Formats: sequence, C-alpha cells, structure tokens
Amino acid sequence: MAAEKVKTELICPSPDIVLVIGQPPQVKLMVSSAVLKNASAVSAAMLGPQFREGQEVESTAQPKEINLPDDNPETVSDMCHMLHSKTVHKYLTGASAATILELAITIDKYACVDALRMQAHAILLGNLDLYADLDLATNGQRMVAAYLLDNSRAFRLSTGRLISGVTTPYSSLLLEEWACHISPMALYGLEAKRSEAQRNLLHNLASEYLPQPDVDYARFITQLCKAVDVSTWPPKLESHSIDQLLSYVKKMNTINTNLGQKLSTAKLASVVKALEENCDGLCLACVKEQNADVVKQCTEKLHGRR
Ligand SMILES: [Zn+2]
Repeated sequence: MAAEKVKTELICPSPDIVLVIGQPPQVKLMVSSAVLKNASAVSAAMLGPQFREGQEVESTAQPKEINLPDDNPETVSDMCHMLHSKTVHKYLTGASAATILELAITIDKYACVDALRMQAHAILLGNLDLYADLDLATNGQRMVAAYLLDNSRAFRLSTGRLISGVTTPYSSLLLEEWACHISPMALYGLEAKRSEAQRNLLHNLASEYLPQPDVDYARFITQLCKAVDVSTWPPKLESHSIDQLLSYVKKMNTINTNLGQKLSTAKLASVVKALEENCDGLCLACVKEQNADVVKQCTEKLHGRR
C-alpha cells in the first residue's frame, strides 16, 4: 500500500525549520526559527536545543525537522500563521468556540499568549459579537479560552452570559476534558453570583411590591402569573434563567393592581438595573488571584475592565 502523502505548508518564504505535526499522515510546517524564538522563550526551549540562545540554527538549504506528534496539525498551523503575521480567515468568518478553545490551549502550551495577545483579543470578541448563544458548553469553552489567553473583557462577557442564560449547575462543566484548564474558583464564582442575583431579585421585588397595604395579594399574584405566563410566583429558579426572570420583570409594568394603579415603571427599572449589575461577569484577575470576594463587583483599578 502506498504511503499517505505528507501535506506541506510553506508559512515562511525562507524557512529554516520544519515542524512535523501529528500522526501519519502528518503535516509539515515550513517556518522561521527566528519568529518562533522571538514569540516565546518557553516555546523555543520546548522545540529543541537548536533554538537555544547563541547556538546556530539550521540553514535554509536544509531545514531541520522537529517532530510534534501529540499536536493537532490544523491548530499548530493556525498558530504558526499568526506568529508569522498572516491572517487566518476562518477566525474572521465565524470559527466555533470549540475551535477557538483548541487554539487557546495550543497558544498557552507554547507560551505564546503575549505574542498573540492582539489577535486573540480580536478572535474572542469577534466570536462573542457574532454569536449570541447562551448555552453552557459554548460559553464554557469561551470562558476557558479567554482565561488561557488572558483576555479580561472576553472572560467577563462569557461568564456574564453563563450567569444570566444558564439554569444548570456549573459543576457539570467538570465533565468536559477542557475543564482542567481553568481554576475551580471560576465555577465557584459563577454559582455564587447567579444565586446572589436570584436572591436579590426576589428580595427587591418583595420589598417594593409584595404585599402592599390595601392590595388583594392573592388577586395580585394571579394577575402577575397571567401577565408573565408562569404558573407560580416566584417562578421556580432552577427552571428559569435570569434572562427569563428579567423578561418577566420587564413585563410587570403592564399589570394593574386592584387599586387601579399600574406598578411603578421607575421602581421596576431600578429592580431591572440591580439585576443586570448582579449579572455582570467575573473579573479575570480576581479569579486568577483566588480572591474570595470574586462575587463582588471588582473595583481594583489595576484589574481593568477592558
Ligand atoms: Zn478584580
């Protein structure tokens, strides 16, 4: 049987190193040792002694091969293209969160986070901008990618979506292979912040409206459930995301009390505002520092809110 043909990608016009990636049929990436060395001292050391400071690299006439059998050819190719200042178009046109996470794991493995910080910023925020999905796995992948790529804005946005859009326990993310790449403090922070947002919502509504003097409470609750299309009030928290609760609260100003007055729009607006602030995502620096106050809104200037 004929051997399967090895695919070769010329990433640099004058390569002096060939990265042989994956298992047969492998992919050969023709790259520049100077670019790799410049990107990360750690990755240079991992790639072999020929990259060490003061030693001669291989010649462009006979590039030396380095085998990386455990890596994914497509992901390492993407990373090498970016390190060589080449655009990888799939990340502009809608790569999945899973693809971005795999890239993040590879960039972190070769310690190229700083070298690729700007590209990572564009990729992560572009994905969050392009897709509004709120499911646990997709936003979990985005959260871990933002954590590995040290992007505080994408981390805050993706954790905010997890807090407001998901009803399942965050600990179910631990079943995913990629969960090992993030601090458990992030999962703790998500769970604590969601619980606090739910508790605050119910407390704020109760203190503003329920029960009021001279209001037939039972009739009021019946009207309320009918207006927001739930069977009980408060609705069961484990089966309603905070986004759903928010949509209910926004509808409440259509409800007449039995005193012939509508609920105050201004009071409802303040309840909605408080809930939205409670659902602000997590601070990446606080999570990385294992800050026990990760649930509170971070005011540390050095942590930034980029
Ligand atoms: Zn912080």
